[in-house]
Amino acid sequence: MTKVYLNPGHGDDDPGACGFGRREADDVLGVALTVGRILSSNGLEVAYTRTTNGGADAHMANYVPQVNKEGCDFFVSFHRNASGAGAAGYETCVYSNQGYAKVFSDKMNSGMESLGYTNRGTKIRTDLYVLNSTDMPAVLMELGFIDNGYDNSLFVNKYNEMVNLIARSILETLGMSMDGNGDVNDAPVPAPEAHQPEPTPVEPDRTNDLGNVDCIYQAYADRWWDAVRNREDWAGAGDGEPIRYLAVCVSKGTITGQVYTQANGWLPKLTFSNTYDINDLENGVLGDGSPIEAVMLYLQYTRWLCV
Ligand SMILES: [Zn+2]
Repeated sequence: MTKVYLNPGHGDDDPGACGFGRREADDVLGVALTVGRILSSNGLEVAYTRTTNGGADAHMANYVPQVNKEGCDFFVSFHRNASGAGAAGYETCVYSNQGYAKVFSDKMNSGMESLGYTNRGTKIRTDLYVLNSTDMPAVLMELGFIDNGYDNSLFVNKYNEMVNLIARSILETLGMSMDGNGDVNDAPVPAPEAHQPEPTPVEPDRTNDLGNVDCIYQAYADRWWDAVRNREDWAGAGDGEPIRYLAVCVSKGTITGQVYTQANGWLPKLTFSNTYDINDLENGVLGDGSPIEAVMLYLQYTRWLCV
């Protein structure tokens, strides 16, 4: 059976690169586990260097010898980049650009470019331990820059497309395909859920308008949850999963929001009328990606009694 080893970088006492309240170790663990599930359901044997965020198996000096001892056909390392200088984009690192490494890199570089990432191409990195000390073909992905807001918005909003792309690229590199031999388990993971906000923008009606104002809001916890109107439901994931972005708008007037985040304290106020934009993490929603600890909302609404 063809076997792949998935290696989410960092972990344990090493968070990796950090930015906008995100930690590389967490981001890449989530991606690797999701990719692994897709690969398993398509008939590939999958092993992981770690499946949690702690412990000795996060350390390369421990897992690289273990991987070599067990053996596998392909070793794939998951990372996110940081520059401190605003750099952006995706790159694949290889020890030498040939064989499986080249096939995989070419697929990933163009695939990530089509998702909106800058294509930084294939980098020859003979200095990286996981590339120069593994006995099998190996690649290392830098899944965008964690200290770049645009790359983070792609990481969040194109997440499902990205994990499917990685899984498909691994399978095709190994001569397999996403829909394998046609049995039910070979189906690709479901199409990405629509995370677009549901609210239909409401035209402000200012003619003899005595009606109530509807408030529409939507929370990003581990993903964007559905939009909620007033008290019909509640927003977020629950189970102690912090809310990292909050989108809010009103059917009439304007709402000004301000959130207090773990990373940056009180953020500047933003004002919305009858819509918001979850694809614009800078100005379309409240928050900076780190847990939101407090929210203040100010509604401004003028009732027009006479026209
Ligand atoms: Zn890294």
